[in-house]
Amino acid sequence: MYGKFKVFKKLGFVFVLSLVIGALSVSCVEVIPGGFETGSSDASGGEDGTENGKDAESEFVSPEPAGGTDIFHEGRGENKNFVVVIDAGHQDHAMNGTEPNGPGSDDMKMQLTSGTQGVYTNIPEYELTLDVSLKLRDELLKEGYTVVMVRETNDVEVSNVERALIANKYKPSGDNDYICSVNIRVHANGFDSPDMRGALMYCSTASNPYAIGELFEECYDLSMSILEPYCELTGMPQYKSPVMYGDDMTGTNWCEIPTTIIELGFMSNKEDDILMATDEFRLNAAVGIKQGIENFFSQYR
Ligand SMILES: [Zn+2]
Repeated sequence: MYGKFKVFKKLGFVFVLSLVIGALSVSCVEVIPGGFETGSSDASGGEDGTENGKDAESEFVSPEPAGGTDIFHEGRGENKNFVVVIDAGHQDHAMNGTEPNGPGSDDMKMQLTSGTQGVYTNIPEYELTLDVSLKLRDELLKEGYTVVMVRETNDVEVSNVERALIANKYKPSGDNDYICSVNIRVHANGFDSPDMRGALMYCSTASNPYAIGELFEECYDLSMSILEPYCELTGMPQYKSPVMYGDDMTGTNWCEIPTTIIELGFMSNKEDDILMATDEFRLNAAVGIKQGIENFFSQYR
């Protein structure tokens, strides 16, 4: 989350859905069943150790975290043209310059805030988000999805606008074979009160004036697809308002592919903070988010 947690007016679910019913999907390409090039799985099998009848997952080797930004991991098989951009929230330092809150906007916001930290563990948000993001990367790579990491280390320098522009590079178009690309922004919450706890999704609205506003249906769908398996697998409760709506996030406003922010839990709550610090939790978080993304992608198969 950026700085202080804010409560935004929750839009009427039914009203919003009525607005978007019938809206055409402009971000993802409908695919005729059976239209995949299934041969590509075999073609890449040798290098991935999938030959000789071995299962790809049993041979999976987690890539060493790479420095820099926009780190591309090519997928394989029928999932290769489904792209997941993972934006691990924050980095080891804030960026105090300003940048437009959206394309063409006069509203200037800080390039990147420092994020929150665990009230009990003192773990910085940027470390938590990176660890979950790397585990999510691995879970997706095991399934053959193409994964793009905004960052794989903490010592990077990448603003919110720059993060969004990385995601936009992977938008399906005539210049690539991508079927659907999504942007998952991983964050954790902080708040003044230690009592608030639970996970929530932060979603842009249908009235967002930028390109992402046209993608509201997809953004909402993506958010809801992820929240349930994430909470079920981790034991993290859903926050009382499990989907928060807002159009103030620079890193989302600049995006042209379906985007959501998952707030893993409240680092200002002792119970959440301790829970999120465990390796077991983080692995379950990654698996849960991966399942949600797969559920979202399934409508484009
Ligand atoms: Zn954050």
